[in-house]
Amino acid sequence: MPKAQETVLEIDLNALKHNFEHLKSKLKDNTKVLAVVKAFAYGSDACKIAKYLETLDVDYFAVAYTNEGVALRQAGVTKPILVLHPIAINFKTLIAYCLEPNLYSSKILETFIEVATQENQTNYPVHIKFNTGLNRLGFDERDIDFIANTLKETSGIKVKSLFSHLAASEDLNEREFTLNQINTFKQYSEKLINLMGYAPIRHMCNTSGILNYPEAHFDMVRTGIGLYGFGNSEKESKNLKPIATLKTIISQIHTIEKGESVGYNRAFKSKSLLKTATLPIGHADGISRIYGKGKGFVTINGKKAPIVGNVCMDMIMVNITNIECEEGDEVIVFGPEHNTAESLAESASTISYELITSISQRVKRILLK
Ligand SMILES: *Cc1c(COP(=O)(O)O)cnc(C)c1O
Repeated sequence: MPKAQETVLEIDLNALKHNFEHLKSKLKDNTKVLAVVKAFAYGSDACKIAKYLETLDVDYFAVAYTNEGVALRQAGVTKPILVLHPIAINFKTLIAYCLEPNLYSSKILETFIEVATQENQTNYPVHIKFNTGLNRLGFDERDIDFIANTLKETSGIKVKSLFSHLAASEDLNEREFTLNQINTFKQYSEKLINLMGYAPIRHMCNTSGILNYPEAHFDMVRTGIGLYGFGNSEKESKNLKPIATLKTIISQIHTIEKGESVGYNRAFKSKSLLKTATLPIGHADGISRIYGKGKGFVTINGKKAPIVGNVCMDMIMVNITNIECEEGDEVIVFGPEHNTAESLAESASTISYELITSISQRVKRILLK
């Protein structure tokens, strides 16, 4: 791997393949895999990731919003794409790009049928979501008759899948709650299937659901974070490989005398002689201010260098007092080994999901294969 000469996010497709295969090994042979590629494939590169996953045997994709699905289609992605959070104003676009909406409320169901009918669609594939305890999006039990009756009156749409989402699949202390969600989903979906007279695909598990609740795999699973290399626990993360490495370089080195300050608001005041390195990466690149003031750290020549003072928009300063390094040297912000995005996120009491999806679009993505 060539040394970084600017801030870059390297994406390792071999690691992606490893993660895909590891997750597949947890499934029965006929269980389908939906890859969640929302938010630029968790901050990496949705189009390139989706195109690569199409060469493995992925069955489905999901994005959060319609425009994310449009970008995938424009890049040539041909597998079905579920839009998890479609908004009515985008329904015409969604149909134009053959994207498949999650219909989660009576209003959104009726509005979609109206638009599909106007657009002369028949049997347009849609997905019905049940709320089984997350209380975010989804139909409740009392809506089931309404859904069935509404479906009977139209030939504009056809239900391709029924699904729900787990609230705490990574937290084994919430096992009872999760098992209850799984049962609720079984009941709701069986009731609707009886009324509809046909059985669509059923799916419920996200990554931690796949790993912790094999009994809830149903016909398909939806994986996001696992594909990108994190298992939401030390044990599970060991079997996965983070696909992204965020690198930068040392722009300048400073000697800070005792009593001098570093950075905005003079947030750091030196109690002794030390050395800092200034790096071209800041909160506009996705390293939030919560990583400042010694919480977050980077790795330089194998050693930890904590962030000194406040994170600036385009720069951070790190303490390199005990590190041999010079201007131009490569810096690892997070990578697959010791300083993972999971551990960096933990240093500031957040989660890998937030850190990796925050890496802004101005950071150059480089694909490794
Ligand atoms: C984001 C999302 C997922 C993926 O979850 P991971 O924990 O990243 O595997 C699955 N299903 C839904 C509905 C989501 O919103």
